[in-house]
Amino acid sequence: MDNPFARFAGTRTIQADLSLLEENYVPDSFPHRETQINEMVTILSSIMRGSRPSNIIVYGKTGTGKTSTTKYVTKMLMEAASNVSVVYVNCEIYDSPYSILVAIANYASAEKIPELGWPIDRIYRETLERIERSGRFFIVILDEMDRLIRKSGGDSLYVLLKLMTDADSVKVSMIGITNDTTVLENIDARIKSRLNQESIVFPPYNASEIRDIISSRLEKVLGPNVVDETAINLCAAIGAQEHGDARKAIDLMRIAIEIAIRENRNRITESEIYEARERYEMNVLREAINTLPLHSKILLLSAIVTQEIEPNSVITGEIYENYRRICDDLGFSALSPRRISDLLTELADYGLLVMDDRNMGKYGRTRSFSIVRQAEIIKKYLLEDENLSMFKSSKIPKQARFET
Ligand code: ADP
Ligand code: MG
Repeated sequence: MDNPFARFAGTRTIQADLSLLEENYVPDSFPHRETQINEMVTILSSIMRGSRPSNIIVYGKTGTGKTSTTKYVTKMLMEAASNVSVVYVNCEIYDSPYSILVAIANYASAEKIPELGWPIDRIYRETLERIERSGRFFIVILDEMDRLIRKSGGDSLYVLLKLMTDADSVKVSMIGITNDTTVLENIDARIKSRLNQESIVFPPYNASEIRDIISSRLEKVLGPNVVDETAINLCAAIGAQEHGDARKAIDLMRIAIEIAIRENRNRITESEIYEARERYEMNVLREAINTLPLHSKILLLSAIVTQEIEPNSVITGEIYENYRRICDDLGFSALSPRRISDLLTELADYGLLVMDDRNMGKYGRTRSFSIVRQAEIIKKYLLEDENLSMFKSSKIPKQARFET
């Protein structure tokens, strides 16, 4: 055979610093966000005159530049004013009043506070003291704030507001970032009015804006003329379709460049973008499957197994039978049919199954399901779960077709 390594030989034609396209890299130029940056700078600039800035709420869908723009502006503020500390809190991880105080306290002083175990008033006092001792302004960024509020209502905001007012010398203000515009509607009116916030809105990008963003991001990554104009346009169009999401567009471009480098190609064209999209979607599918609870995984596996015998859509009862067999084999106790019916509907909501409700006249309603696509791939991802790995080598038990 031809040497399979031959096509990897020779110098790489594309040189690229792909770390500049990673999610957490903060660029230093933000096309089409001049207005939002100006608004934020204007509000925060009161720090330069020694007074506490208003709280800010940043609204906008995912991928509209909220996190990176806020990080960029606050970084410049820290450079301009030596007495400012910016505490970035990702509320996906820090989602209670306690954990937010810990994040702030641990930022204010090197001595670590335990993540658990102190009474809340003790940690509150400690945080307050640490901030006072430092004599600095604190800007607390609550990113993904909607999660925090969903989890702990207004309690965490209440604690922050209390910090803001409890001592004259303490200067704390907050920048809350959220993609849910209704997030503040459900919290206590008193908390809401005391927040006294200014809002900054990040609208979705259109295709031409995303095109400018990609071009500006690529400047530092690659030499000129490596990426076709048509490839940039395609990326931008996909991002714009997806609620004006610059993140997806940049991710696609990064994956496309990775593919070109790996395959030793010297240009990025539309076809690399299409390949990248394919890979991106596989990753999303895989992530969706990996994070399912175990019984939903077993159920999805049962649906696949059932459909292998019954190529069209399969009814809930059949899936349930196979689900019970698989549970038996694994030594798990099966959930009730009722619960399973809920889980199946949930899988359909996630887009992993297609649900079809049909009215059968005097026989009542039947609900059937089919596998969306790529059953083999879904199965492969499911079997990545250790609990199910025995099916990699052995056959999955299934029952023959139902007689109807
Ligand atoms: P959000 O927090 O709104 O979901 P991000 O700030 O994380 O969005 O932005 C998503 C990605 O797109 C990040 O990699 C970010 O650097 C990039 N990005 C967004 N807007 C711009 C812009 N105007 N210029 C350059 N890069 C941008
Ligand atoms: Mg964000």
